[in-house]
Amino acid sequence: MEKIKMTTPLVEMDGDEMTRILWQWIKEELINPFVDLKAEYYDLGLVKRDETNDQITKDAAEATKKYGVAVKCATITPNAQRMTEYNLHEMWKSPNGTIRSILDGTVFRTPITIPSIKPVVKNWEKPITIARHAYGDVYKSVEIRADEEGTAKLVFEGKSGKKEEVVIHEFKGQGVIQGMHNTDKSIRSFAHSCFKFAIDTKQDLWFSTKDTISKKYDAQFRVIFDEVYQEYKAKFEELGLEYFYTLIDDAVARVIRSKGGYIWACKNYDGDVMSDMVSTAFGSLAMMTSVLVSPDGNYEYEAAHGTVTRHYYKYKNGEETSTNPMATIFAWSGALRKRGELDGIKELVNFADQLEGACFDTLNEGIATKDLVNLMEGITPKAVTSKDFIGAIRQRLEKRLA
Ligand code: NAP
Ligand code: MG
Repeated sequence: MEKIKMTTPLVEMDGDEMTRILWQWIKEELINPFVDLKAEYYDLGLVKRDETNDQITKDAAEATKKYGVAVKCATITPNAQRMTEYNLHEMWKSPNGTIRSILDGTVFRTPITIPSIKPVVKNWEKPITIARHAYGDVYKSVEIRADEEGTAKLVFEGKSGKKEEVVIHEFKGQGVIQGMHNTDKSIRSFAHSCFKFAIDTKQDLWFSTKDTISKKYDAQFRVIFDEVYQEYKAKFEELGLEYFYTLIDDAVARVIRSKGGYIWACKNYDGDVMSDMVSTAFGSLAMMTSVLVSPDGNYEYEAAHGTVTRHYYKYKNGEETSTNPMATIFAWSGALRKRGELDGIKELVNFADQLEGACFDTLNEGIATKDLVNLMEGITPKAVTSKDFIGAIRQRLEKRLA
């Protein structure tokens, strides 16, 4: 069989630990035998990030802007323990944070669902996609440890000379202070991405903040969404879609009682937390896909989970692990499909469909990684190692492509 040709390179961002191992196996078994992969490779593994003073992360984000489509492996966000483990020069920032702030995009997370895994919330019939605003708030905040009595103030000095100042708190003792921001531009592009994605996927859009408490900050998000919605209103009505705004606590209650099948747009922190809750309730973090969509139409696909450190330590000790590669495989299929769509290569689009189909064939036959086995109902599943799982997918993929 002739390999499928590509015309534009895919930006490939390698990563860390167990997912870096899976990355290699996925390429060897499921991509390279079928696709003449044209990729611009960036190693975002922690060793390389440290070596390049994190320049490699910025370069990878710029390449995504240039080519339009990227696929990313999970990466370590260093903490104090990683500083020692990797003998780092600096506690580098989260690569995802860096990439998101360069692309100024929105992250959409959708669970991969299969008939044998019923969501914990029994009225959920369809996947819930979470749209996480990917810029600012606590992720771009500055903090001060107030270690004595004193006054904390919030000051804005306008370019025109205008000055605004409010007292945050008169400290009588020690405490903590945090300053955060967002920009109308980023909120507006977040809104555009959400309305566009809702129309693309023909799903309702929910949006929630805490504007009853945060009367200027969160309120601005609501105002901008209302404004931007006017541009999409006609299309929404034509498709019978609904946009509605509600408070975050009301949204949480409604989500639990809903049937699913919509996009829930969240501020950065809400999206971080809620996507973990939603993915767990749908089955497994390992079955959650993630795509960053920038307002100028660049796409970065990845798994929502991390580098699965606990499994990696076992692997390093020579143990075979049963780490679930589904979300990482779907990052590859998502990126290849998008590349195929943009370049008009229908063989590549078909390959992505068949690869996902082969994953479903495997799971529907009860061949699964350990994390899924206990969740499956109405089927007698067999737990296999990551390697055997990928091998089983390959067999079914070959059959589908023959
Ligand atoms: P994690 O890697 O997502 O793993 C947490 C636990 O979830 C695992 O120990 C495992 O549970 C389960 N799990 C996650 N993915 C799985 C998979 N594919 N197959 C089977 N089980 C899976 O989160 P973490 O341990 O908190 O973080 C590890 C590293 O990843 C950290 O350095 C963090 O900075 C980084 N991280 C990166 C990203 C990203 O690049 N997007 C996102 C989050 C975290 P059991 O141990 O019970 O089997
Ligand atoms: Mg999270």
